Amino acid sequence: MDGGEAQPESEMTMIELTERDRDTIVSWVRNCQPEEGCGLLAGKVQDGRKTVHKVYPLENRDASPVHFSLDPRDQFEVLADARMHGWTVLGNFHSHPTTPARPSEEDLRLAFDREACYLIISLIHDVPEIRAFRLTDDGFVPEDIVIVDRTTMDQ
Ligand SMILES: [Zn+2]
Repeated sequence: MDGGEAQPESEMTMIELTERDRDTIVSWVRNCQPEEGCGLLAGKVQDGRKTVHKVYPLENRDASPVHFSLDPRDQFEVLADARMHGWTVLGNFHSHPTTPARPSEEDLRLAFDREACYLIISLIHDVPEIRAFRLTDDGFVPEDIVIVDRTTMDQ
């Protein structure tokens, strides 16, 4: 899983989030079980490096254990909040309560945003597995996740 993919340098992308962001995501999607939990991520992008500044846990409008959709009103509110802070919406996250942290066929079918990070959290095991992907001509490719300690950084 790590370093196995031969990607051109320019294609390398990563998403950076704090431990606290990760905990927010994990506790939200655990709370949503047995349904898929979901939400959006906002922050800044520079040179293919996405830095999360805020996690927005949102309702899964499908209320389903196998797929999710966001309420357009929630998306609009997140967009407005992100803009107010000078952030962009970096991507989304959703959980797979009973399947691995890989995009499903449904995920691929519904994905369209090539700028976005698609974060998937598998809850099969006690320790949640989190993986990031982005959409390319070849479908989803992995994106690195970097967990940072930003307590001392200027937000
Ligand atoms: Zn999925």
